[in-house]
Amino acid sequence: MWRPQLRSPAGYGGPCGGGEAAWIVSRLSQAPPEGVQKRFVNGESLPYLGEDIHIAVRFADVPSPEIRLDDGRFRVAVPPNLRGKRRLEAMRQAFFEWYRERALDQVTECVDRWWPKLGRGERSRVLIRNQRRRWGSCASDGTIRINWRIIMLEPSLIEYIVVHELAHLSVRNHSPDFKKLMSSVLPDFRDREKRLGQTEGILPL
Ligand SMILES: [Zn+2]
Repeated sequence: MWRPQLRSPAGYGGPCGGGEAAWIVSRLSQAPPEGVQKRFVNGESLPYLGEDIHIAVRFADVPSPEIRLDDGRFRVAVPPNLRGKRRLEAMRQAFFEWYRERALDQVTECVDRWWPKLGRGERSRVLIRNQRRRWGSCASDGTIRINWRIIMLEPSLIEYIVVHELAHLSVRNHSPDFKKLMSSVLPDFRDREKRLGQTEGILPL
């Protein structure tokens, strides 16, 4: 299976509070290597909030693929004339957008919830980004950038990543002070960090 090469289990081993330069951005619709891509057909599944959700595809009179999460399935309406590579690309783009929107909602909600405890200065701006090697970063101006794939993870891991980045508002590095702060607000953070590392290789897009 294609591995997105997100750093782990010490996914946060390197500095991630290092400002703009530390944020490795890649193209928005960068495709995984050929041969390991999802085909977006019936029977396949994609992760969402830590669960594998099956895909149910049907043809419909729509201009481009439309996704609904309904009754525990991704219901995807696809224009019948969409075939081959164009279909794959359109499906991937539709899922990317679907995930990105929910990632923004989820991360924003999580930042709101944790801001009273970890917020410093003006409330952090949240940006959802596409890149392969990093779950998140916290810039020196407080802006928090999060990988859209976060929304594939179970909520407790999403929370871990957000709390980690918010903690960088107080401690910019991963020093013992940082770990002390993490363990004071999220006593099981090491366990979550480990579990995050174990998700490597399960994120298919
Ligand atoms: Zn960090």
